[in-house]
Amino acid sequence: MSKRTLTPRQPALSGRLALITGANRGIGLAIARALAREGCNLIITGRDERALGKARIELEKLHPAKRNAHVLAQSCDVRSPDSVDYLFTLVRGLHKPLDILINNAGIGHPNRTIGELPYPTWMEVIDTNLNGLFLVTQAALAVMKRGGTIVNNLSIAAERVFPGSAAYNASKHGALGFTDTLREELRPKGIRVIALMPGATDTAIWDTLWPRAPRRKMMSADTVARTILNALLVPDGATVEKIVVMPSVGPL
Ligand code: NDP
Repeated sequence: MSKRTLTPRQPALSGRLALITGANRGIGLAIARALAREGCNLIITGRDERALGKARIELEKLHPAKRNAHVLAQSCDVRSPDSVDYLFTLVRGLHKPLDILINNAGIGHPNRTIGELPYPTWMEVIDTNLNGLFLVTQAALAVMKRGGTIVNNLSIAAERVFPGSAAYNASKHGALGFTDTLREELRPKGIRVIALMPGATDTAIWDTLWPRAPRRKMMSADTVARTILNALLVPDGATVEKIVVMPSVGPL
């Protein structure tokens, strides 16, 4: 049998720069892992600094450049204009365009009918899932150029409703309207916009939404990450505009 030498595959996102909000756990961290393995430089954010630090160390180990990997972990509350401003001061300081923005930070709320939903809960969910999406995206546009991609992690709750989840449903429906508008505005600029709409995924968000939800029926965060990586890698000139990825059993 003849010996064949296999040339190692070049990482697909080598040298690119991605910012992921809410990347210290859950789907955001899974996406960060997938991008790091492909050689992507990362800016990861979230509020919990300890979790962010742990994530940074893990991501540097996964990156093909190991110790020379560029993983910046910066705490940022997407609800706060000042916090988002500060984050983007750091991003501008890197003097590199942002190739990929993953708007992922988001929260749920306990199951309550509209009659019972406290106003502060409503405000917190809209502030995080919708206003935060606006703030981060607007700031990012100044550092993105032709060839860039924005992924907004919405939910199937962006198109269908779950009773008892009015604030979550409304925030994600609003976020889909925002995403669709953004895509049209950015077409002439050559920036792709992807609406990611996963079904139930096994993460900490369910501790709030539905603590006794059947986790074994859910997708893993890695499955969602793999799906979005594939969409990021479609050749120039094409955009995966919308991704609906569901557990095979359907909605829970
Ligand atoms: P997790 O609770 O595991 O992760 C949420 C992430 O968002 C954390 O990193 C959290 O970090 C961050 N975050 C929350 N609030 C803020 C804030 N104000 N500012 C900055 N970061 C914040 O849940 P998931 O991974 O499941 O959720 C990620 C996204 O995926 C959400 O937008 C969610 O709606 C969406 N999604 C989830 C599905 C699921 O079934 N799990 C299905 C469809 C969509 P920290 O608390 O440290 O700030």
